[in-house]
Amino acid sequence: MKVKNIVEGLVWESLERVLDTKPDACKCDKCQADIVASALNHLPPKYVVTEMGETIARAGGLDHRVRTAVLVALAEAVELVTSRPRHE
Ligand SMILES: [Zn+2]
Repeated sequence: MKVKNIVEGLVWESLERVLDTKPDACKCDKCQADIVASALNHLPPKYVVTEMGETIARAGGLDHRVRTAVLVALAEAVELVTSRPRHE
């Protein structure tokens, strides 16, 4: 059994979609990780106890408001990281 923040999975899933709408954003691994970390710092975590395979089903049942909050937090995080990228 593991404890997992399902919001984190949702942020990673949504990242590509948000980056597609931001052509100026850097898409290197470091910036993507910075974007995810920044977004997660602005989102309330939602922890579940999981066994293998169970996580995706639970994430699918996430509240619509949580999904919207994830997209908003990601869009803001992209702006932040794009204005101050930490890559070499
Ligand atoms: Zn970068």
